[in-house]
Amino acid sequence: MNVIFLGPPGAGKGTHAQKMCLEYGIPQISTGDILRKAIAEGTAVGKKAKEFMDNGSLVPDSVVIEIAKERLAKDDCQKGYILDGFPRTVAQAEALDKIASIDFVVNIAVSDEVIVKRLGGRRVCPNCQAVYHINFLNGETKCKDCKTEIIQRKDDSEETIKERLKVYSKQTAPLIDYYQKSDKLISVDGAIALDEVTEQVRKVFEAHND
Ligand code: AMP
Repeated sequence: MNVIFLGPPGAGKGTHAQKMCLEYGIPQISTGDILRKAIAEGTAVGKKAKEFMDNGSLVPDSVVIEIAKERLAKDDCQKGYILDGFPRTVAQAEALDKIASIDFVVNIAVSDEVIVKRLGGRRVCPNCQAVYHINFLNGETKCKDCKTEIIQRKDDSEETIKERLKVYSKQTAPLIDYYQKSDKLISVDGAIALDEVTEQVRKVFEAHND
């Protein structure tokens, strides 16, 4: 099963992709995570990507397409995968069409207002990538799984969130139309309670699991 999770930053793509990957035993492929790792390791790709990411803009298509191609060629992808954060432009979707056959696309729809609240309070563990929200941390500053000090992502500052939303509506939202045209798009409401979103996403997977 080859699946794409689409949606604005903070829609919950990563959270739901992770859950479904565990349930179906397939890898979660997040270009954002791959790029953050490249930055942490100081690789050539990381050096190219850092400024774009810090500003909330997209890393150039050529860089990201190459990363996705390399990752999708690995053995663990042969039984399926969930793409989380790729493609993000029509050029990336066209490149993906040349190397993969996508079964369906889950579009997690959330308004800008909800996104600003969610991302502004988001905190992450830089070690294991666990995600938290300040409203539920009760003053706790360490990751409950690995005890690392949790942080706010640089691109979760208010100004950068606004920029990322602009980038999303201009460059990524056209993919909704792109996948609707090929009859692959299924939208779920991402603003309802987390468990309910998970249930909706699960139903979409069950309906396509043959
Ligand atoms: P994410 O973790 O998916 O929110 O991605 C964080 C940042 O990484 C984005 O704001 C972009 O700067 C960059 N990025 C991740 N995936 C892509 C992509 N498919 N195309 C371009 N830039 C990307």
